[in-house]
Amino acid sequence: MLSQPLQFIKGVGPRRAAEFARVGVVTVEDLLLRFPRRYENRAGLTPIASLRPGHTATVVGEVLSSGVRTTRRPGFRLFEVVVRDGSGAIRAVFPNQAFLKDVFRPHQQVVLYGLLEYRSGGLQFTNAEYEIVRGELVDDAPVDDVTVHTGRIVPIYEKIGAVTTRMQRSLIFQLLSEMPDDIADPVPAVVRGALPSRAEAVRAVHFPKAGTDVEALNACATDAHRRLIFEEFFLFQAGLVLRKRRQAEEKKPRPVVVDDRAREAARRVLPFKLTDGQKVALREIVTDMQRPEPMHRLLQGDVGAGKTIVALLAAIVAMENGLQVAFMAPTEILADQHYLTIRRLLDRSRFRVASLTGSLTAAKKRAALAEIASGTTHLVVGTHALVEGAVEFRDLGLVIIDEQHRFGVLQRATLREKGQKPDVLVMTATPIPRTLALTAFGDLDVSVIRGLPPGRQPIKTLARPETRRDEVYTMVRRELEQGRQAYVIYPLVDESEKVDLKAATAMFDTLQQDVFPEYRVALLHGRMKADEKEQVMAAFARGDVHVLAATTVVEVGVDVANATVMLIEHAERFGLSQLHQLRGRVGRGAHPSTCVLLYQYPVTEQGKARIDALTETTDGFVIAERDLEIRGPGDFFGTRQSGLPTLRVGDLVRDHVLMEDARRAAVSWLDDTTRARPLVDYLSSHWAERFGLVGVG
Ligand code: ADP
Ligand code: MG
Repeated sequence: MLSQPLQFIKGVGPRRAAEFARVGVVTVEDLLLRFPRRYENRAGLTPIASLRPGHTATVVGEVLSSGVRTTRRPGFRLFEVVVRDGSGAIRAVFPNQAFLKDVFRPHQQVVLYGLLEYRSGGLQFTNAEYEIVRGELVDDAPVDDVTVHTGRIVPIYEKIGAVTTRMQRSLIFQLLSEMPDDIADPVPAVVRGALPSRAEAVRAVHFPKAGTDVEALNACATDAHRRLIFEEFFLFQAGLVLRKRRQAEEKKPRPVVVDDRAREAARRVLPFKLTDGQKVALREIVTDMQRPEPMHRLLQGDVGAGKTIVALLAAIVAMENGLQVAFMAPTEILADQHYLTIRRLLDRSRFRVASLTGSLTAAKKRAALAEIASGTTHLVVGTHALVEGAVEFRDLGLVIIDEQHRFGVLQRATLREKGQKPDVLVMTATPIPRTLALTAFGDLDVSVIRGLPPGRQPIKTLARPETRRDEVYTMVRRELEQGRQAYVIYPLVDESEKVDLKAATAMFDTLQQDVFPEYRVALLHGRMKADEKEQVMAAFARGDVHVLAATTVVEVGVDVANATVMLIEHAERFGLSQLHQLRGRVGRGAHPSTCVLLYQYPVTEQGKARIDALTETTDGFVIAERDLEIRGPGDFFGTRQSGLPTLRVGDLVRDHVLMEDARRAAVSWLDDTTRARPLVDYLSSHWAERFGLVGVG
């Protein structure tokens, strides 16, 4: 019954079915698994004699009289009904709803729910929720046996096209009355434990029993809600577990071997001692690489924790084993910077590094591709140009993806396809909250680099209103006088927006001509040509440019140790992890650094929350959790293709504890292959479609 298309349900028809389909509601199950948006307590009958103006009340009574009245306003008609119970009578008016004359009839039993007002000398309901009681209303029978829209805790649905909350309520009531109690339950009884059965939960979510806590209902926190959310999470997590298992069944053609030669090669390029945190992470990665199954690992660490060198050492191990390495970064600036760093570090090795970005000339690109294909190039650094069809490797053994959450899951898969079951190492720019890591990266193993490299100076973070700009400039000048450098960041909502670009350019002119005429200021933005950008960045890295006025193109990865000031204009407009990333550009050298958040009124509540969070902590793991709370999961990653599931009832922030429960339950249930069989079958046919993600296998 649940899989029946709504179109064929009595009272739906093709027009409404089309409206439903537009929001993804096609079957009976789709409709039943949409939670009401909220609930109203319309239970508790008030005797008509006790009604008070200004209060909301439910009354039951018999229709005394009804009819349409014309008013003095031309064309304006009023439907009016008078209802009586044992204690008195009350009027209910419905402006401009003359059709109700065909609904209400004298002597009917009706329920009215609404706000009481004094109007034209008497107490009345205006536009009350109403219901004609069809069953026999015996004096002491509970009203919620016979009413749907009133006299009980009532579900309020989001309107779907022209399908009102009332129509949905009637339809769902009807469907539930036809639904058997033994509908199939994808959650095994053992797993579900004390939570209600599927049928029970679906009923209680739409038509809660009298006395249910309305606050709990509105918070989706009743057992019925939690059970259905758990079901969704359980299925999702089970799919992830299966996907991971399938990956584990794959075998690399040739696992890497770590011998003295590889160790020596790694030691030769290392410019400093690894921190303990880096050592732990590197050991986990290299252990994976030596296994017969391909690695799927996520490397997390705060901004500046030193993920790049760890990845590079892993790359050396792969290259010592005769394998090629692809290193993908989300922006051209970052790819260029990685390329320069890596080339410098590998200078004294026998390995050859190439760069592959969208801005190469056709001839250079052809040459680069040929060298990658022949194996002359051992390591190639690039943007998503790397996933293009024309790129072929001789023997790709390790894929490193920096700042993963800018890329989609599909891009990860495409790059992997270019090798024969290569090892995959994914790195994130900022830490990812645990719940999101469990979902978007749930099929990856995780390494975390704890702590920062030694000698890092804590960064002082200040928030200042625009009115104190001069004071901020004075502070920047003091740093410049000491020989330090500064970033001034201007927000661009969209790098292609001309208006914004003009504002950034104007800011640059002011800085150069009026504020710091004796220093060199340079402008950097996303619309500049690649070689222009490269020149500006190189000049800043050399110290020839003192103040870098930039848009968010410097957000990730840029690394200039002598820069000690990060001044962020319009800080109220930036996202939290973006601010944290930007701040992470300073505090990288021996000198103490400052990050100034310059904000302009009006500041939204969210904007304020972000600025507060940033001034209160520099711990990226804490900031990530706060960011998730402020923004919600979708916005956290910013793209739909990010590996987040399309959820129907669960909310990754609100229900994060349930997600962890579901994870544990799924892992342990799938441990026993015989008993897990039905679940596995169900998932292989439904999972990808249901969650909008790449399939289970
Ligand atoms: P992130 O983890 O944010 O990508 P990076 O890999 O860019 O950080 O490293 C940040 C800076 O710290 C770089 O300049 C890098 O050379 C330096 N660094 C990394 N590890 C160490 C270490 N163990 N000792 C000293 N400096 C380090
Ligand atoms: Mg980095």
